[in-house]
Amino acid sequence: MEYRDERLESAYGEDKIDLSFANNKYILKWWSKTHDELIFTLIQKLQWHWFCEIHQKVEDITPKEVIKNWVKEDPICKEYVWYNVIAYFAEARAKIKGMTKDIRKPKRKKCGICQQDFNEDSLGYPLVIRLGIDDLDFCAPCLKNIIYPNSGIDDYDEKKIIKYLKELANILQRVPTQGFGERIGDLHGFTKKEKFELITFMKNKPSITRIKYFFGSWFKALIAAGILEDGTRKNSRGIQCLAKDGDVCYSLGEKTIDDLLYSLKIKHKKECYYPESNYRSDFLVNDVHIEYFGLAGNKEYDKKTKEKIKLCKMHGLKLLAIYPKDLLSYNKLKEKITEAAL
Ligand SMILES: [Zn+2]
Repeated sequence: MEYRDERLESAYGEDKIDLSFANNKYILKWWSKTHDELIFTLIQKLQWHWFCEIHQKVEDITPKEVIKNWVKEDPICKEYVWYNVIAYFAEARAKIKGMTKDIRKPKRKKCGICQQDFNEDSLGYPLVIRLGIDDLDFCAPCLKNIIYPNSGIDDYDEKKIIKYLKELANILQRVPTQGFGERIGDLHGFTKKEKFELITFMKNKPSITRIKYFFGSWFKALIAAGILEDGTRKNSRGIQCLAKDGDVCYSLGEKTIDDLLYSLKIKHKKECYYPESNYRSDFLVNDVHIEYFGLAGNKEYDKKTKEKIKLCKMHGLKLLAIYPKDLLSYNKLKEKITEAAL
């Protein structure tokens, strides 16, 4: 077998693009200035990996009919898959038009985990898209064990898993979403320093398989670690904590919701009274009461919940109920709130 140094060699080899691809008259028919601008934007975002996203982005901004007709008409689409044809065309065009001259040279760096030298372009697109082009501070072999789906350590015991999850919640200052670290957007929104801290911490990550083996699910593991509340436990209303905007929250779950509202720039009030009642809701967004029912399953708590729902019905108020399970996916939670309150 040929020896490949995963740390020093470019992930996709040298690009020897056939420049004649740029002369494709069938594409030139519909290729516009906006398409060229797309190339510029992608180069800003991904540098030497820009072409990895080009066919998808072109598809996003081009009418379906246009693509369909072109594929039918262009003889080269019988030879290659159409999205590769678009990528080859764009690559050749970018080169000829001088758009690629601003791409910076990949740097030689020392990996923050194994301390070995690596070249930035040895990281493949899936790694770059997770980290961000300016924050490539770890080598591919190290990262693959940390942020790829189904990665992580397989021989932890329960104690070690709980310790890891507690520390993770502590670093994140919110409820960690399902399999935190493995989804494309998990590391987005953190500063370079925060990312560095998170990834060096996550090298101790237990695998999902191991977590499921002991706890059944990520969700149950969070409950076992005391990060999410559980109605079957007493006194788990949690401790007070401050959300990013200074709001007082009574559990990490509530803080997770508050911080999300804040990051989405959604105006919200805390602890708002229901009419003719001593009950208060956790949040009020526009005219929608949002409740985090963290202790669902607890008898007394469920009774209160029912009364709150009744109150809302009586007064024709809108109520959005959020449960601990809803905190496992940021995107779904975002959707739920946006749909109900905006
Ligand atoms: Zn490394």
